[in-house]
Amino acid sequence: MSTYVYDFADGSMDLKDLLGGKGANLAEMTTLGLPVPPGFTITTEACRAHLQEGSDPEALAAQVSQHLVTLERATGRRLGDPTDPLLVSVRSGARFSMPGMMETVLNVGLNDHSVEGLAGQSDDERFAYDSYRRLLQMFGSTVLGIEDGVFSRALDAAKQTRGSELDVDLGTEDLRALVATYKGLIEEHDGDPFPQDPREQLDLAIHAVFDSWNTDRAVLYRRQEHIPEDLGTAVNVQAMVFGNLGTDSGSGVAFTRDPATGKRGVYGDYLQNAQGEDVVAGIRNTVSLTDMAALDRTSHDELLAIMEKLEKHFRDMCDIEFTVEHGRLWMLQTRVGKRTPEAAFRIAENMVDEGMIDLDEALRRVTGAQLAQLMFPRFDHSVPRTLLAKGMNASPGAAVGKAVFDWATAVEWVERGEDVILVRKETSPDDLHGMVVAKGILTSRGGKTSHAAVVARGMGRTCVCGAAALDVDTRNAQFTVRGGPTIREGDVISIDGTTGEVFAGGVPVTDSAVVRWFEGDDVDDPLVHAVARLMEHADNTRRLLVRANADTADDAARARRFGAQGIGLCRTEHMFLGERRELVEHLIVAEAQEGRDKALAELLPLQKADFMAILEAMDGLPVTIRLIDPPLHEFLPDITELSVNLALADAHGHRNKRQRKLLEAVQRLHEQNPMLGLRGVRLGIVIPGLFTMQARAILEAAAERIQAGGDPHPEIMIPLVGSVRELDLVKGRILEVAADVRSETGVEVPFHVGTMIELPRAALTADAIGRSADFFSFGTNDLTQMTWGFSRDDVEASFFSTYLEQGVFQVSPFESLDTEGVGALVRLAAERGREANPDLHLGVCGEHGGDPDSIHFFDDAGLDYVSCSPFRVPVARLEAGRSTLE
Ligand code: PEP
Ligand code: MG
Repeated sequence: MSTYVYDFADGSMDLKDLLGGKGANLAEMTTLGLPVPPGFTITTEACRAHLQEGSDPEALAAQVSQHLVTLERATGRRLGDPTDPLLVSVRSGARFSMPGMMETVLNVGLNDHSVEGLAGQSDDERFAYDSYRRLLQMFGSTVLGIEDGVFSRALDAAKQTRGSELDVDLGTEDLRALVATYKGLIEEHDGDPFPQDPREQLDLAIHAVFDSWNTDRAVLYRRQEHIPEDLGTAVNVQAMVFGNLGTDSGSGVAFTRDPATGKRGVYGDYLQNAQGEDVVAGIRNTVSLTDMAALDRTSHDELLAIMEKLEKHFRDMCDIEFTVEHGRLWMLQTRVGKRTPEAAFRIAENMVDEGMIDLDEALRRVTGAQLAQLMFPRFDHSVPRTLLAKGMNASPGAAVGKAVFDWATAVEWVERGEDVILVRKETSPDDLHGMVVAKGILTSRGGKTSHAAVVARGMGRTCVCGAAALDVDTRNAQFTVRGGPTIREGDVISIDGTTGEVFAGGVPVTDSAVVRWFEGDDVDDPLVHAVARLMEHADNTRRLLVRANADTADDAARARRFGAQGIGLCRTEHMFLGERRELVEHLIVAEAQEGRDKALAELLPLQKADFMAILEAMDGLPVTIRLIDPPLHEFLPDITELSVNLALADAHGHRNKRQRKLLEAVQRLHEQNPMLGLRGVRLGIVIPGLFTMQARAILEAAAERIQAGGDPHPEIMIPLVGSVRELDLVKGRILEVAADVRSETGVEVPFHVGTMIELPRAALTADAIGRSADFFSFGTNDLTQMTWGFSRDDVEASFFSTYLEQGVFQVSPFESLDTEGVGALVRLAAERGREANPDLHLGVCGEHGGDPDSIHFFDDAGLDYVSCSPFRVPVARLEAGRSTLE
């Protein structure tokens, strides 16, 4: 029989798959002897069974009963006892943290009788009825699915009767009356009365938590964070402790280091006479841990000692939720804390210095996605700005956008192409849709541990929270700065998540310190030191080489500063645009070979100069130059425009021979599916002079570089090969050109000829192609297009959102490699190619070369290098290092 329920004393942090993160760590803290209110965890396996079958596994009820008995024994209280009742919290806790996305029910076990027992035991009738009405509200909305407004309207009415705006002004009798009202509302909306049987309450609450795995917001969050759909949540049932029993009680959230900057030293928020939910929701402004010491020195000191113990035990920055009940400290949760990218790098490096972890572990703890965020621009401090307010620097970055005050407007405006900043008093999980699309989030309440802050950091969204000088009026879609201006919906504001500042208007942004350092500036900054150290370790660790996709000498030089070890893809097509377009037109329109040769001869020196500059910028390193790839009609004027111009010319009686010839050429070259038409190697075969001109330009440029003392390593790459015969035809001509260049210049140029693998047929016949090629470069953009039959140019805008919504894939296959399908072709081609030609060099130059997940795949598939845009080179270096450690 499966074990579906674990006592906290029986679990451990290694059981996260089964007990969820929260349950596993509660068990770990219990084993460490820390003060954790007793309880038990129902496994994720039970949740999965419940969701699949629509009912609980048979053994679950008996196992819950058994653990309930143990819990009652441990606390000396009984659930539902009319004199001294045990109350429990029922909370979700999945394998991966999903803050605020699933349900929680507190105070389970209260009913018309046990509420009196709680009143007697706490000697506080008001508190008992307040707890009861909270249970009714939470149970009604969460478990029974009654709209929350039903209860909050009744609460507002009660406050109105009292003539007050605050919950705390409601007295015992008001709350007693409210309890009666809430019970009536439950019966009215649900049909049945509120269940007085505490065990029934418990079972229903457990089911509600199970079911909350599948709420819209939880599904959306998982999609956003790439959390698998089928894990399910565990449920933690734990004896309640109360932080709202007076001034000797309170609740707080703390981090063992600053989660925003990574600076050493504890960091946290404490709220006297409050439950944990009040702290996270940012309902009142909290005090710092230092100020907590003045309120309750004993609990403060104990807390700090526990935090030190936890950090040493987990060997990482931990975040913690705690409650003080009548001066007694209780630990309610700990986990390895979420942090900003800056904090991730600094904490990892500091922990190496402190001897807590080694450099390998430090490298595992940072990601390419975090590094990419550190390369984001920040606000330009030299420009005069109008400061509106200062809040907390909850999640770094610089965001500019129009102020909006509700998530629906945020989504609508972003859909029509606007940048927005979502402004709220505080956020709740319902705001998630808006937070996902907004450039930044601004709140007037709550600390760095509020919902807004935690979620924004997790998503890497810029966030300023707790800007208390702002009076946010969501109803009228505006905020007023105390003693200052009013900002209305649609007004542009700028928020700085690194400093917490809020500015009127759009502030210009500047490069990041990390980028400046990559560019070669001497930057003295602790973050830059951390990045430098971990980059160095990644470079020392990785097997994969990293090259860049660069088409100009400037890009090549930048890529080199960013650490590129060569160019993996130099696209040559842009070299045929601008003022050279006319020569290409001549080439296409020419009727006789002579005219074509003339155009090619004119293009040759221009191409040669292009290649000289790039080979010089990458001197000593390989430069893969791809021969022209796109269909030729892309270099001609638009067919409609040309037709209109000609019609107008005709109407005015003008003769225009050149334009007419052009139109004829455009019509001749017109294709229904140009992506599947005359492009790539097919062009090289149909118009041979084009490829040979390019090959000559490359080889002459290299010869000249050698004569000038340089060390060029050109690699000539043929695009869109599907058959080895195509490659052989073109390669034969290139070798002839090479022999000519050798005899003309007297210089022996070292070069390679290889092919892109971007058609499924090329992958499937990679053995034959591999025998003729020096290298393969996987063009995963086309390979994805051709394997799925997805038009690269159309599908992302047309139906990918539906495909993502319906779970056909979790992420666009153009963004992150489809390892099952396209990846299988990559593996197969790599294997077959290498078998046929053991010296075959393998790389990838599609967009996936800079995508962290895909890089790990390419490393595993045994490629020699990845090639990506210059800006992503550092990300790829870091991820390649991390991949080695996997
Ligand atoms: C590819 O197809 O992956 C590739 C790199 O070539 P392009 O994007 O230029 O078609
Ligand atoms: Mg391609």
